[in-house]
Amino acid sequence: MIADNYQIIQAHIPNTVKLIAVSKTYPNEAINQLYKLGHRDFGENKVQELVEKYEHLPKDIRWHLIGHLQRNKVKYIAPFVTLIHSVDSLKLLQEINAQAIKHNRTINCLLQFHIANEDTKYGLTIEEADEILQSVEFKSFKNIFIVGVMGMATFTEDERIVRREFTTLKNIFEQLKSSYFYQNDSFREISMGMSGDYKLAIQEGSTMVRVGSLIFGNRPK
Ligand SMILES: *Cc1c(COP(=O)(O)O)cnc(C)c1O
Repeated sequence: MIADNYQIIQAHIPNTVKLIAVSKTYPNEAINQLYKLGHRDFGENKVQELVEKYEHLPKDIRWHLIGHLQRNKVKYIAPFVTLIHSVDSLKLLQEINAQAIKHNRTINCLLQFHIANEDTKYGLTIEEADEILQSVEFKSFKNIFIVGVMGMATFTEDERIVRREFTTLKNIFEQLKSSYFYQNDSFREISMGMSGDYKLAIQEGSTMVRVGSLIFGNRPK
């Protein structure tokens, strides 16, 4: 089942787009099934669950933190996380940088933007991002790399709304690239698209899709 779903989705994704298998709430055994097919990129939204899975699963898995991250929990994932998709404040970046220094590594991050209609979703506005990126403090953070942006579209059947929000994120990416990262080839990721909207996201320029239930089946409630 999982293997079939996975292969169908991969067939719809161009080579230039990375599939992050969102394994939150699913057991290690489900992750292992994909691992055996050669898949290595997995996403989790809770620190505790991420750390438990990291401890029990093969060490060459690339773990992505995709959910809201509290500053006091950065220390638990700093030794091993591959990419933090959900950076939404200067204070959080400061803590990620400090923990990265402790572990003598550089941590890749995406800036999360608020692109949906719903007020419940986390993320920055472009003005807040400008403020962060122009700050003296940000420029002093040597152990983080900002490699792109992330966003979640409104949960709706209306394709026009979803497409418009993805376009907004793509435009934010282009704007930041030309203002702050024009000499920096590693600023290139646009993390957008989930089970319900990943095809639209790819049409609108996504470089990373975060797909869970379409691979693993309906999530246990
Ligand atoms: C759960 C989650 C996903 C994946 O959702 P599915 O609808 O199961 O594909 C993607 N991104 C984030 C931030 C999530 O929390």
